[in-house]
Amino acid sequence: MKQIKLPVHNAYDPASNDEVGAFDLIHAEHRLGDSLWQALSEAGRQQPSVFLYAIYVLGLILLKFDYNGHQLSFLWTRQEWSLYGMLGLMVGFSCTGLLVASHFLQLQRPAQALSQAVQVISNLGLSIVLVYVALGRDRAAANVGLVLLALWLGYRVLIALRSIVSLGAIARYFLLATLAALVVAGVCAVVALNHLPLNAATYQALALALIAELTFLGLALAHQARRYQFAGARAMHLACHDSLTGLYNRRAFLDMAKPVWSNAKRNQRPLSMIMIDLDHFKRINDQHGHDAGDRALQASAELFEQACRAGDVLTRWGGEEFLILLPETDMDQACLFAERIRGSLEALGLPVESKSIMLTASFGVAGSADKHSLEDLIKAADLRLYDAKTQGRNRISSEHCLFYNSELRA
Ligand code: GH3
Ligand code: MG
Ligand code: MG
Repeated sequence: MKQIKLPVHNAYDPASNDEVGAFDLIHAEHRLGDSLWQALSEAGRQQPSVFLYAIYVLGLILLKFDYNGHQLSFLWTRQEWSLYGMLGLMVGFSCTGLLVASHFLQLQRPAQALSQAVQVISNLGLSIVLVYVALGRDRAAANVGLVLLALWLGYRVLIALRSIVSLGAIARYFLLATLAALVVAGVCAVVALNHLPLNAATYQALALALIAELTFLGLALAHQARRYQFAGARAMHLACHDSLTGLYNRRAFLDMAKPVWSNAKRNQRPLSMIMIDLDHFKRINDQHGHDAGDRALQASAELFEQACRAGDVLTRWGGEEFLILLPETDMDQACLFAERIRGSLEALGLPVESKSIMLTASFGVAGSADKHSLEDLIKAADLRLYDAKTQGRNRISSEHCLFYNSELRA
């Protein structure tokens, strides 16, 4: 069997070389160790898919240790095993790199036919490697392994390029990480196959390429995490808000109103509810179109929102209905508030096709004093709203407030 001169027996000791400078072994491995630690902690805390990244980083660290020739030498009792070890590690880190790309970074895979072809070639190639290893033909096994490695790295480049348009920075960082991985694989290969000696230059090239790969991959992952965070916040916002007006939806309103109700009851504090319904809204839609109707809803919502205080809870309760819960507000104050909004809405004027159309609304006001639940309070406000409608609209009806009762205004 042909003997191959291997780095394990030719270990380059960077500490003995003054030219090594700032990028020495200690720095590189500390950096790798840090990345691994962070990735593992993250994996434990949050996403299992980060575990892939941790495995990937672990593969790189082992490769680095192996290349260094010191740390893993106790494993390689036969000389050729070191070569297999290094190739095995490179193969491993290429595979996990692909997994990181497809599962964690969610980069787009190339066409299915190409993916299948790569898979078939990989299986075939790995079988050939095993046969060569069994026959003791180390050099041939190593060469086939390297061809496979080049294939996988090329495939990674393709994945990154395909995803650049849809994923932007994530794919660009992944591409840079892959190019650095190509350098790592290339340097390991030429040294392992004895085309170049293991010296300060090759050693530092590998260390720098490893750091570059981890850094770019880390940046890709950070961008991905930011994307998830943004998507999560957006989903949360959509789940709680009405898309047309931006106000809280019914569910979010109830979530916020319940503790306000309990607080008011426990501390015997005043609490009022106003239900608002735009008048003859169907007519606006029918006469000016649905878009004008939408704009009327948006303008009304904006006006109500501006009128509310910080602690008030406002929602679009249904089509053209709104609810406002007013903590620390008795019936008289709630009626004054409702009258203020009613007047402002009446004076607003919605510009539609070079005209200005008047918007009005009816208001039902109820207080919490004699109610047993939040639902009772809402029902009472709804009853008063019905009363305001039947009394002629564009008015306020309340349970006890004398001044603004619809009969007095009519
Ligand atoms: P009233 O004074 O009795 O309240 O009469 P109204 O026409 O306002 O009430 P009605 O319940 O008859 O009609 C409400 C209309 O509101 C019907 C529905 O098409 C419209 N609407 C509900 N949601 C939206 C929306 O998001 N956009 C638009 N443009 N219209 C909506
Ligand atoms: Mg209406
Ligand atoms: Mg209505």
